[in-house]
Amino acid sequence: MPPASERPGMTSFEGFRCTDCARTVAGDGATRCPDCEGTLDATYDLSEGIDRETFKSRADGWKHRELLPFVPEGIGEGATPLVEAPRLTEELGVGRVLIKNEAHNPTGTVTDRGLALVAEAAVRSGADTLALPTTGDGGQSAAAYAARAGLLSRSFVPSRATFINKAMINVHGGDMRVVEGRFDDAKAAYEAEREELPAADEETWFPAAPFDSPFRHEGTKPIYYEIVEALEWTAPDAVVVPVGHGATIAGIWKGAQEFEDIGAVSGTPQLYAAQPDGCAPVVEAIESREDPEPWEYPDTVVGSLEVPDPAGGLPAVEAVRASGGAGVAVDDQDLLDSAATVAQHEGLEVSVACGTAAAGAWELADRDAFDPDDTVVVLNTATGNKDADIVRSRLMSQGI
Ligand SMILES: [Zn+2]
Repeated sequence: MPPASERPGMTSFEGFRCTDCARTVAGDGATRCPDCEGTLDATYDLSEGIDRETFKSRADGWKHRELLPFVPEGIGEGATPLVEAPRLTEELGVGRVLIKNEAHNPTGTVTDRGLALVAEAAVRSGADTLALPTTGDGGQSAAAYAARAGLLSRSFVPSRATFINKAMINVHGGDMRVVEGRFDDAKAAYEAEREELPAADEETWFPAAPFDSPFRHEGTKPIYYEIVEALEWTAPDAVVVPVGHGATIAGIWKGAQEFEDIGAVSGTPQLYAAQPDGCAPVVEAIESREDPEPWEYPDTVVGSLEVPDPAGGLPAVEAVRASGGAGVAVDDQDLLDSAATVAQHEGLEVSVACGTAAAGAWELADRDAFDPDDTVVVLNTATGNKDADIVRSRLMSQGI
């Protein structure tokens, strides 16, 4: 099969460009810049007459194929619902609050979108194994998509990863190394093992962590395209995004710029990065107007956001700055309460990462960040049942 860029009518994809040294890289299986190890980003020719009409008549999760490097086979990811949240709307004092519910993805998380592309890229590059350090959800997704694509997966997870993540990595047939400690310990174990791989090893690893290839953040762009279409081709005023590695918020911002560039929608939203105050390197960088620095003593109940030195820290900070948004850090008790409040007021089961974004939205409303008629989207990254134990513990500590 010819490269995707040579298949007529499929995509306006041009190639990948290093965000550090601007070198361009061709091929469907790109990882990092061969010259400087910098992050690669997909580029497109957006002058080819793509507009909202291009997408309107299609229904699947990868229907924005002109804005993707290629379309993966997938197992039903994307096309997630945007759900009205009437009681939150009233409580926040804005025009409308909606929850973009990524729990509807195949393994129940937003990470499925990126891993669908990563698995396809790995197959096209001839690799046989998806390998990554992961806070948990990414490993579960990698195990699922590797299984589907006939690849192996190797996940390095910290001991604190959720029971569901560990169990389902096993259920999908993935290899898992549980590393005592936190995400950075898992990452160190991954890097050590990668160093030891002989050049002609039986196993060829394709790096599946965010920003180790251009595909994880690229795969999250459709979140924004879908929001715009659900809002009848208008841009929301604000999107509140929980931030760990930074891939999701970076992808949403890229998607927002592309949709404005092709004239599918007028304007872009303000993006708000929400993090737990026990690990908030992106929020701290936004507030100090500096580049992100590694967080020295990460400590939060939100394992999926406990990423002290995020690979996408700078793109996340730049996305927020360019959008005119802000950062917001919330404490663990508040974010657990907020996850329970969303469940109790709206019926939606959300992750504690979404609880972080919801608590952030309340804090932003208190700061008068929103106008009374604003449309505010809060991103739910994962199913609530992955975090049921910690939210319930919080309720029990209150005698409930
Ligand atoms: Zn480079």
